[in-house]
Amino acid sequence: MFDLRELYQEVILDHSKSPRNYGRPANANCQAHGDNPLCGDRLTVYLNVQDGVVKEIAFEGSGCAISMASASLMTEAVRGKTEVEARGLFKRFHSLVTEAEPADADDTGALDKLTVFAGVREFPIRVKCATLPWHTFTGALDRRVDMISTE
Ligand code: ZN
Repeated sequence: MFDLRELYQEVILDHSKSPRNYGRPANANCQAHGDNPLCGDRLTVYLNVQDGVVKEIAFEGSGCAISMASASLMTEAVRGKTEVEARGLFKRFHSLVTEAEPADADDTGALDKLTVFAGVREFPIRVKCATLPWHTFTGALDRRVDMISTE
């Protein structure tokens, strides 16, 4: 039988071992720092936003496989999207990892590869790992200069 869970683990492992868009882009015009003290995940998300569009996104940091894979997949998901679209995506992602029955289940298609994190909802402590990159991303959009903490 085809094991979805195994596929999900493969995607997460792949992205945590070789994160996409890792580094600091020279043209970044906003950034934010995120910290999940419960797990020890720390990262900085760099953005280049022009006319409300996320033209460039990258991150640097260290942490568990879930947090690194989530950051990596997030950069792929939001690049080229408008701020409004990207925030909407976070809302759906948040619902996916926290609600047993995501409010807009019909809409999970838009989440694409991000659905690999659906299993995280069974492990509340891991939800913070998966959402830290997104909180940090929206913190950068909001031009926050303080540390974005999950606590
Ligand atoms: Zn973590």
